[in-house]
Amino acid sequence: RLYNEVQDLKGNIRVYCRIRPFLPGQSKKQTIIEYIGENGELVIVNPSKQGKDTRRLFKFNKVFGPTSTQEEVFMDTQPLIRSVLDGYNVCIFAYGQTGSGKTYTMSGPSVSSEEDWGVNYRALNDLFLISQSRKSSIAYEVAVQMVEIYNEQVRDLLSSDGPQKRLGIWNTTQPNGLAVPDASMHPVESTTDVLELMNIGLMNRAVGATALNERSSRSHSVLTVHVRGIDMETDAILRGSLHLVDLAGSERVGRSEATGDRLREAQHINKSLSALGDVIFALAQKSPHVPYRNSKLTHVLQTSLGGQAKTLMFVQLNQDIDSYSETISTLKFAERVS
Ligand code: ADP
Ligand code: MG
Repeated sequence: RLYNEVQDLKGNIRVYCRIRPFLPGQSKKQTIIEYIGENGELVIVNPSKQGKDTRRLFKFNKVFGPTSTQEEVFMDTQPLIRSVLDGYNVCIFAYGQTGSGKTYTMSGPSVSSEEDWGVNYRALNDLFLISQSRKSSIAYEVAVQMVEIYNEQVRDLLSSDGPQKRLGIWNTTQPNGLAVPDASMHPVESTTDVLELMNIGLMNRAVGATALNERSSRSHSVLTVHVRGIDMETDAILRGSLHLVDLAGSERVGRSEATGDRLREAQHINKSLSALGDVIFALAQKSPHVPYRNSKLTHVLQTSLGGQAKTLMFVQLNQDIDSYSETISTLKFAERVS
């Protein structure tokens, strides 16, 4: 008696836009957002042009304005979480320049207050609640992995040996196979278990970071939730997975600004984000060839992109006039894949 509430979705890729509010200390508060429509329309004004051609319209499945709460954002994400328990693979990721609110949306500003919780805590909380409510018919087991992809190397953020070991990615052909079987797998039974693991992961992620080079904006973090359910009547086994991804900042780094390590990082980030764009574009076009193998990121996410999988992208925007060109480049990325 497994059902799917997401059947009404058009296709399997949805794109939500979220606009970060101005922050209390921010001095200039001039916005480039002119209009947010009920049906996902967004109009941006070019601050440096006058008269004609200053406006551009973009269309999303939904736009969350600066006053949207974490709860409101999650309400529109929730059906996807339910479908993980129905045996689907789901990928949710946040794309945008550093400072646009990716971590805020995915994790939240702090975990101490439930109100602040981002998508990942709410998602796990929901998984446990729903699995409890079904426990008379399906017995669920949940386990998580957390890896970081930095300079095209995959590292385990939850390993007891620390995040040093580089991991291989297996070429799994099973529909729900594990993409990174070498990463440590942690069974979890409650949201508290998950919060503890994620704190360890975040601490490990900060290793090697300096003030000038904040690691979290230069690497992708991927939290993978594996769900296995056994139907008590028929013994049928169902598997679903959820990838929750906080991507590296999408800002372009000029050749002149970057040298050495910084340039290498920037090249790896560019490469993996454009590979992600290419994969989603190919899926949206229903192209027979999907180039998963062009980056570690798309390789790790392969099981939750395409096929029966459901994908949700949060396009994160800064609304201040100084971010105009980065914002347009983020919007162009989104336009191509939606
Ligand atoms: P990113 O992960 O994209 O670099 P962050 O999530 O760290 O960006 O956000 C940058 C800053 O803006 C943080 O201080 C964060 O708390 C704040 N912020 C982001 N989005 C929101 C929001 N929707 N409401 C309030 N503050 C936000
Ligand atoms: Mg961040």
